[in-house]
Amino acid sequence: MKLGLILADQLSHTLASLRALNPQRDALLLAEVMEEASYVAHHQQKIALLFSAMRHFAAELRQQGWTVYYHALDDTLSGASGSRASGTPAPYSLQDVLQHYCRELGAEAVVVTECGEHRLQQQIDQHWPQALGMELQCYQDDRFICSQEEFQRWTKGRKQLRMEYFYREMRRKTGLLMDDDQPVGGQWNFDQDNRKRYNGEVPLVPRLMHQHDDIDQQVLKLVQQHFSHHPGRLDHFLWGTTRDQALAELDHFIEHRLPWFGHYQDAMKTGEHTLFHSLISPYLNCGLLTPLEVCHKAEQAYLNNRAPLNAVEGFIRQIIGWREYVRGIYWLHMPDYGELNGLNNQRPLPEYYWHGNTRMKCMSECFENTFRHAYAHHIQRLMVTGNFALLAGIIPQQICDWYLAVYADAYDWVELPNTLGMVMHADGGYLGSKPYAASGNYINKMSDYCKHCHYSVKTAENDNSCPFNSLYWHFIQRHRPQFERNPRMTMIYRSWSKMAEDKQQAILARAEQLLDNLNDL
Ligand code: FAD
Ligand code: SF4
Repeated sequence: MKLGLILADQLSHTLASLRALNPQRDALLLAEVMEEASYVAHHQQKIALLFSAMRHFAAELRQQGWTVYYHALDDTLSGASGSRASGTPAPYSLQDVLQHYCRELGAEAVVVTECGEHRLQQQIDQHWPQALGMELQCYQDDRFICSQEEFQRWTKGRKQLRMEYFYREMRRKTGLLMDDDQPVGGQWNFDQDNRKRYNGEVPLVPRLMHQHDDIDQQVLKLVQQHFSHHPGRLDHFLWGTTRDQALAELDHFIEHRLPWFGHYQDAMKTGEHTLFHSLISPYLNCGLLTPLEVCHKAEQAYLNNRAPLNAVEGFIRQIIGWREYVRGIYWLHMPDYGELNGLNNQRPLPEYYWHGNTRMKCMSECFENTFRHAYAHHIQRLMVTGNFALLAGIIPQQICDWYLAVYADAYDWVELPNTLGMVMHADGGYLGSKPYAASGNYINKMSDYCKHCHYSVKTAENDNSCPFNSLYWHFIQRHRPQFERNPRMTMIYRSWSKMAEDKQQAILARAEQLLDNLNDL
């Protein structure tokens, strides 16, 4: 028999390795292991979501007739390395568990689907066949729309890799929102319609609530017992943990939020963490939903006149455009990508990223969402917590570690290009032709945060000035050599040059003072 290993982010019934195995002859293994759960201090809700979704998925596979071996976190392996101190799960790796089951079952080969993280794929490719002493068959992960090879082919001969052109290829490939070879509505991108502030015009619909069953309860208890030192809390655990629940979340979004997704995509509001976003990234990334089924449902809503084109196009672009594009960039540039520091940042991450207490209202709102829900929407990540790290010159690897730790949807292949590339501009600009640096004016335009803030968004040079304002101009000035000749930044440098010199000096002095006391904001 062959043993198929299914990883925590491979919970799809259509998975390539499942298709390659035979339920009558072969067996499957799923494993909760300490090494994977703690190599980063993942948010408690992420661990709970994955362990519970794995347990539910294993039960579904058994119902379909598969023989499934399930290694729970506190199970012990006889004869494996790693001992178990009283009450503490042994620090097993996936390899330990796999070795044990291969031996016990007398497997003739191990079958896997290629994994999402370079770190683990290296271990699989370089160490597992020898350590296991048997053949290892690794199948391509075809849940993505664009394979790694296809992305590499697309990059050949291009001076610049523009997401917009890649996205058009994906539209043609999938046929989504296409009239033959032309985009529906006559244009590829309706982003210019999608920049509204939210002032309560459309009522917000609460998040879907799921009935948490015995499996969920057991897992929540397990996570509380062993991971309470990890970031976040469990008291607002609202995630679904089965495919049916993930589908219900998708339907909830399509019915109640998709119609306004476009208009309010960039909006932020005090006390609201979801607005009109879908909250499906954790399900897409662990395999409970697949990108194409999600896009087809959104397209159907447009065809049935239940959602306008600007919203549906904007949503589909995030999935077949951005999501596939960042994955392509990741595999194109790993492993060196993770070490880049193109702006030579040297400052450590301020402590409030971990405890959430700061007088900057925009930041404290995003931290509150993050710790309470293991979620923050894209603009909160990009233009608030990310923007601040960019302006303050935080070491990219420290802010990347933070994003990888605190979100339920965080996986290296998607987090790293978004943080290191899009936010920190540390890769020289694959994900944006100019850095997404912005002053407090942007946050004030797109939210009501500034009204409730200790700092004044109106000024940049005073003791109570918005830190984003002062740091923004400091960023512009200190990176003049890199960006002055960027055509998309000419206006900004012109405005800076036109400013009176004493004002410039006052702003820079205020910024220096903030940078010297970053932990005290
Ligand atoms: P929606 O706003 O409803 O968008 C729909 C879907 O589009 C998302 O579920 C997601 O699958 C996809 N999507 C949208 N934007 C992106 C993007 N830039 N890159 C990839 N997919 C995208 N997304 C992750 O899935 N995992 C991460 O670890 C992650 N880290 C990020 C870190 C930073 C610093 C930034 C700026 C963005 C990050 N993103 C990440 C992208 C994006 O913020 C999340 O996908 C989105 O907020 C998830 O919420 P949602 O499902 O409500 O998304
Ligand atoms: Fe954030 Fe500045 Fe607005 Fe305060 S004033 S909420 S720090 S942008």
